[in-house]
Amino acid sequence: MAFKKRILHMKFYSTNNKTLKVSFKDAVFNSLPADKGLYMPEAIPQLDPLFIKNIQQHSLQEIAFEVAYTLLGDDIPKEDLKQIVNDAINFDAPVKFLTDNTAVLELFHGPSYAFKDFGARFMSRVMGYFSQTDDKLLDVLVATSGDTGGAVALGFLGVEGTRVTILYPKGKVSEVQELQLTTNGQNIRAIEVEGTFDDCQALVKQAFNDSELNAVLRLTSANSINIARLIPQTFYYFYAYAQLKSQGINEVVFTVPSGNFGNIGAGLLAYKMGLPVKHFVAATNVNDTVPRFLSSGLYEPLPSVQTLSNAMDVGNPSNWIRIQDIFGGDVDELKSMLSSYTFTDEETERGMQKLFEESNYIACPHTAIAWLGARAYANEYPGHYASVFLSTAHPCKFPDAIAADVFEKIVLPKGAEDLQGREKLAEPLKVDFEAFKKYLINHN
Ligand SMILES: *Cc1c(COP(=O)(O)O)cnc(C)c1O
Repeated sequence: MAFKKRILHMKFYSTNNKTLKVSFKDAVFNSLPADKGLYMPEAIPQLDPLFIKNIQQHSLQEIAFEVAYTLLGDDIPKEDLKQIVNDAINFDAPVKFLTDNTAVLELFHGPSYAFKDFGARFMSRVMGYFSQTDDKLLDVLVATSGDTGGAVALGFLGVEGTRVTILYPKGKVSEVQELQLTTNGQNIRAIEVEGTFDDCQALVKQAFNDSELNAVLRLTSANSINIARLIPQTFYYFYAYAQLKSQGINEVVFTVPSGNFGNIGAGLLAYKMGLPVKHFVAATNVNDTVPRFLSSGLYEPLPSVQTLSNAMDVGNPSNWIRIQDIFGGDVDELKSMLSSYTFTDEETERGMQKLFEESNYIACPHTAIAWLGARAYANEYPGHYASVFLSTAHPCKFPDAIAADVFEKIVLPKGAEDLQGREKLAEPLKVDFEAFKKYLINHN
């Protein structure tokens, strides 16, 4: 991958065909190139070193704008981009020290209480911006196993020119997650499918391939591999570094709880843009395709296994090809920057308990895995760096995975109690594509 200082109009190539380049707008609306690769920026631009030197003087929003502008160039005029960033990233991402050298980067202070708010809110505003000139409503279809749906629903809520339809598996999402999906109204609709997440995904996929539907509706996907979801996830790595730097700390190791590897992929992209990072650690549950690759050199995806940290139950992480692309296929360089550790459900449960006992910190199972990964790395490679693990969701979203006596001590985030009293609105649906299609056409 080539390096450039300042990009005027960033193009995006497919990881499968680097000669085929598209604009940011096309990459956002197509989501997936026809050749089944993933979109990546044609070059990784460098953040101004002077900006990094003084980064501790800037707010999260200022940092987010500088990073977005460096990556996208003038495809969205500066003032418009600033407005998109300010509107999307309107919540904090604090670094909190739990011990002298271990800190948590809390990414759950957005509306759905999960880090996916960064991606979903930025993408929704970019899609809304690019749709201003279209007279046809943009119909966003999304299948969710829990966290994605809430972030997309709340991210698009009230964004003009868009309408969101969320399919979720009945009885398989937590109470907070269901309330976030089903109580919005306005431009957000929820469909409760009598089936699994895979059934929901298959229905959405079939809709995208249906010529009749595509003739009537302007369909797009909000799925997690969209480049407009990856880019805003770089912001908080820079902001975390800024917070450490203001405390005189310059060396940092980030540990990221990983499933589809979008979050850590964004971290590695930030590193390639010039963020000073000592090392990254990917922490996974028993869905360990990447850890096995890093130790054996063989990439052998397996069917996903259900765990307590279900937002990371991914057997074949889609974003892995992006990470390989970032390192230009140089496995040795990749390994010099990335380690990984795997944890079972039993270890996750003990981790949550221990973190609570040692630091009085209640973590969701994904976050606990990150903490375990950070500890494993620190034991293997001790040093004078700050060990920062990412908290990807608020624990209140995962009642079934947290011990009851700990769960009851959780302080609910602002707005969560309010959620309880709201009316659930969801269209029941059998796993039946014709019925789904009829719903979409009749409710247009
Ligand atoms: C989506 C999710 C993850 C996994 O993130 P990836 O980018 O897919 O690796 C981890 N934790 C939580 C809470 C999530 O919702």
